[in-house]
Amino acid sequence: MQNSFARLAALETDSAQSLESWIHALPKAELHLHLEGSIQPETLRELSRAKGRLEQETEVWIRQQEERNFRYGSLSEFLNAFKLVSLLLESPSDYALATERLLQALASQNVGYAEITLSAGVILWKKQSLPETFEAICEVARHFESTAPLKVRWIFDAVRQFGTDHAREVLGWARMFRDQGVVAFGIGGDEERGPAELFVDVYQEARGYGLHCTAHAGEGHNPAGMRQAIRLLKPERIGHGIAAARDPEMIRLLRDNEIPLEVCLTSNLCTGLFDDVQNHPLKQLWDAGVRVTLNTDDPAMFATNLEGELALAARAFGFGPTEIIKLCQNAIEASFMPEDEKQEFRTKLRQAADRSVPG
Ligand SMILES: [Zn+2]
Repeated sequence: MQNSFARLAALETDSAQSLESWIHALPKAELHLHLEGSIQPETLRELSRAKGRLEQETEVWIRQQEERNFRYGSLSEFLNAFKLVSLLLESPSDYALATERLLQALASQNVGYAEITLSAGVILWKKQSLPETFEAICEVARHFESTAPLKVRWIFDAVRQFGTDHAREVLGWARMFRDQGVVAFGIGGDEERGPAELFVDVYQEARGYGLHCTAHAGEGHNPAGMRQAIRLLKPERIGHGIAAARDPEMIRLLRDNEIPLEVCLTSNLCTGLFDDVQNHPLKQLWDAGVRVTLNTDDPAMFATNLEGELALAARAFGFGPTEIIKLCQNAIEASFMPEDEKQEFRTKLRQAADRSVPG
């Protein structure tokens, strides 16, 4: 890969537009995005109108977000908004609609592979049928995969503050649906109210079932919870993990054990962790040799997409074609694709990068 990109390394471009169209043409993989957070305001309006409920709340929230440029006062304010969106998803067909729109959005950006997180824990909390919901989602995904060059895999996420039994129930379903594209188990939600130590056995069981493991950790500024998550849960990837920037020992741990971070720049800005992208530690982690991937987290709730995140990294940190390619490669290597699929994707990326060079 290195040689074939050598000529890109020498390229400097002052044309943002050509860099952006080059980014668009690259086949990309995304590893950290939530189905629920991908639902665009128009689809939310459509869902609430069709049901005749939560219409006012939805409208107020959408207007507020548009006025505030999708900035939230805090992470917990964002989690409340995520809850409102989740409450609009009442039936398997609502989830199917959300899936269809997300897959269209991914395909339109040349995303060729996505590991999509489904808040399975929230579906259980709403007392909806997880098997019926996931079957509806899979039907859409199967149809889509047969018509577009996009492969979809799923990560079932438990809500950490709901505790151990809840997480184990989510894991049981993840295990059940392994043959329908569920590749991993993870936890999200409130790190303080659901510390890693509660989930040690659950993670061990997940590995025993042949599932990969991820964990949201270190999304805030405090590295202690992230240190615990890595030490106790041994996840293969960390969702966010930017708290590591404050802890040289953890940076070494991530680098030496090749534990990738799923960094989400716009998400971190929108939830108020940084007021300026220049203050984001992505470049620091990158320079320290940590395997960084770029992701959208909740693209519709933060008005972003994967192309936008790569372009933002280019603008904010001076990343050129070489670094953008490296970010795309990192996503392939950090993915849970089997080796033959990774190989195929690497080749596609190399060919696309060689075909069109920004200048
Ligand atoms: Zn997330």
